Amino acid sequence: MQNSEIIWQLVDAKRQSFEALSDRVWGMPEIAYTEYGSVAEHIAMLKEQGFRITENVAGIPTAVMGEAGEGGPVIAILGEYDALPGLSQEANIAEPKPVEAGGHGHGCGHNMLGSAALLAATAVKDWLAKTGRPGRVRYFGCPAEEGGAAKAFMVRAGAFDDVDVAISWHPASMTKVDDALSLANTRMDFQFTGRASHAAAAPHLGRSALDAVELMNVGVNYMREHAPSDARIHYAYLDAGGIAPNVVQASAKVRYAIRARDLAGMLELNERVKMIAEGAALMTETTVSISIMSAVSNMLGNTPLEDAMFKNIDRLGPVPFDAADKAYAAKIQATLGPADILNDYRKTGIAPRENTPLCDFVVPQGTRGVPMIGSTDVADVSWKVPTIQARVATHAIGTPGHSWQITAQGKAPAAHKGMVHAAKIMAATAIDVISDETLLARAKKDHQERVTQTPYVCPIPAEVKPPIKPRPVAA
Ligand SMILES: [Zn+2]
Repeated sequence: MQNSEIIWQLVDAKRQSFEALSDRVWGMPEIAYTEYGSVAEHIAMLKEQGFRITENVAGIPTAVMGEAGEGGPVIAILGEYDALPGLSQEANIAEPKPVEAGGHGHGCGHNMLGSAALLAATAVKDWLAKTGRPGRVRYFGCPAEEGGAAKAFMVRAGAFDDVDVAISWHPASMTKVDDALSLANTRMDFQFTGRASHAAAAPHLGRSALDAVELMNVGVNYMREHAPSDARIHYAYLDAGGIAPNVVQASAKVRYAIRARDLAGMLELNERVKMIAEGAALMTETTVSISIMSAVSNMLGNTPLEDAMFKNIDRLGPVPFDAADKAYAAKIQATLGPADILNDYRKTGIAPRENTPLCDFVVPQGTRGVPMIGSTDVADVSWKVPTIQARVATHAIGTPGHSWQITAQGKAPAAHKGMVHAAKIMAATAIDVISDETLLARAKKDHQERVTQTPYVCPIPAEVKPPIKPRPVAA
């Protein structure tokens, strides 16, 4: 029943401009906090559609908010447009081939994410104008989802203080209501400082910062046995202290990502990792300075909104893929292993289907698979206001997240169909909240119950500012 409802017709009426917007953003991949070109595209579209615009949200130059409507509840629709480093890839082919070697690419589909969210907000705006109902819709263009935690900074700055409900989506391999499972995540840097010295002639005078990092990693690896089973801790050397083995390394830096099932659990783990770092400094007679780069909370669900969104997904049906879409997806699947495809079904909780390169079905509400959990900064919004997300099929089943295959599929006809479908789901859910006061009341009550026991504390310390990057100088 693709277009049986006015709100869906309003989405379709403008789909072409927003498919083109998504493709333009795909073509200018910009990573965390450098999304100057992408936000300019979104601002231009907000202007063209007649939104009231607030730039520089939370002091972040690549964040924007556009509002329309008067009075009534305030519905936020969240978009993103940041890309990933190293995932440059030509579109619409089924072999790895970067547009630019080592360049950035939209390997998480955020080109579609932002564009569909803005299309949904536009359709809600047009619906409010058409029906004359009280209600406000706000499109939030949120940068730096990938490791930058921009939404957590935006929540902290009060950007969502008078919002009633937030709605978003993510490109996916299967169409469903999001499980609302994500890990709280802190990125913390450990800078060790020792004393340089000739490693052969005066080793006793040197104190190695690199030794300290290695001992810290050993300590953390021993801690794993005694951490909750769903905790995830990983690290990368940002500075190994140089390339000369005959110099005692005076400086070394390691970045940790520390993830746990909930905010309280993460804060506890953070302290344990910090103690290990201090222990490593003690052992090596070095000093350590510790700084949090960014942090996000775990996602909170909202049962009334999940039910409302599922009804829309169910009424709308599967994304209307055609034979050509499936043929391309089958080629992408040929680049994957059988384990990739099985994994997708396993984590979704449905039995594998033969000859199904694209999700031509809707995952039933309440289906639970084996959780494979990452982190997202949408979670911090979910602690502030009732929040709901869809996952909508835009790429072949089995496509791994953050992969060249996602970049390759990011402006295919299937991706366009998926993003328009997502816009319809989000817009329909938004007007449900605007039209049905009891739904809004139930959503708020559900949210209140979830945050009463452990009220929200922003996981980013007050002194940490968003790591804003300067606007690139035109060549
Ligand atoms: Zn993503």
